[in-house]
Amino acid sequence: MPSERRNQNINSGSSRLGKPSPDGAPWARPASSNWSGWLFASIFGVGMLLSQSVAVVAQVPASVPDELRTVAEKSLFTATSSSQEVEDFLARCDQLSEHIRCVEYGRTVEGKPMTAAILAKGNFELGQKDQRFRALVIGNIHSGECDGKEALLEIIRNFALQPNSEWLDKLVLVIAPNYNADGNDKMGKTNRPGQVGPDAGMGVRPNAQQFDLNRDFVKLDSDEGRNLVSLMDKFDPHLFIDCHTTNGSRHRYLLTYDVPHNPSVEENIRRVLREQMMPELTRRLGTQGIDTFYYGNFDRSSTRWETYGFEPRYSTEYAGLRGVLGVLSESYSYASYANRIRGSREFVLANLNYCVERGDELTRLVERTREDFIATAKARPE
Ligand SMILES: [Zn+2]
Repeated sequence: MPSERRNQNINSGSSRLGKPSPDGAPWARPASSNWSGWLFASIFGVGMLLSQSVAVVAQVPASVPDELRTVAEKSLFTATSSSQEVEDFLARCDQLSEHIRCVEYGRTVEGKPMTAAILAKGNFELGQKDQRFRALVIGNIHSGECDGKEALLEIIRNFALQPNSEWLDKLVLVIAPNYNADGNDKMGKTNRPGQVGPDAGMGVRPNAQQFDLNRDFVKLDSDEGRNLVSLMDKFDPHLFIDCHTTNGSRHRYLLTYDVPHNPSVEENIRRVLREQMMPELTRRLGTQGIDTFYYGNFDRSSTRWETYGFEPRYSTEYAGLRGVLGVLSESYSYASYANRIRGSREFVLANLNYCVERGDELTRLVERTREDFIATAKARPE
């Protein structure tokens, strides 16, 4: 996402499995048997690692009816959903599952609905606070980076096919897969030079005002930004994930990530993300053959690996400053489209698994951190 530099170095070729794949992505290994095994990895795991789209689609289980296949799946990973197709898909999932409810949380600059899927057991309303961990995930803030959107649609669909999801005993999940819906529909085959697919084209980076929505979390000049922050105010998530695709340096990782690094983010938030959560997720994804590392780009001299800015105009920095566990997800632009979807999906699931496992502890940590922050702010002299 936020790369302003391009391709200063090439540091790819072989994964740590010892055999380079055609697109630099890791080769298949069996999925792990941790929490995620019960749902997704077992359903879609191994096949997605193959870069040939026909082989990948063969792994979409026959039990998924045609009307619940994503545009990416149906097109043999050559296309991505229009905003209307996203809306139709979400409506079908809503209809299928009593645990999924779609809500319009605003309208884009061009008047398109901004739809989020609420995945929860019972009659959950935004603003409701209970024991469950609350996670908000968005895709397509930069619309050409569309594999996150398709991955999130798969996640919603797979929940819809699991009527007794144990996850939802401990988790309330809100997913906004197509945040920049206006940009999504300005499809073109050359919108993302260098990105490997989808061949039929992808959306553009900015919204209809030509604003970069991932630079708008302070000024909130865009309708989309105001609507999303309003959704965050109502839902009050403990975890926020923003799904992107890289457009910079070449490296060996199917996906890179980052966490807030603004020095004003509370130490508790940064510490749990950097010292506990990300190292464990990296280890777990490694057991699935998905190599991950911190997001960045090489500097001009190719001697330093540098991340993006610390300013709260970026989504994950803003989340961190709100006292939220903010996570940036960046699938690798030069990996195949199918692999990127798999990487994005498994990374989001790994985050959710981790937070479900440590739900009580992380909920307490986030809420105590916010209470302390507010108390400190109120105690400051005039
Ligand atoms: Zn991006």
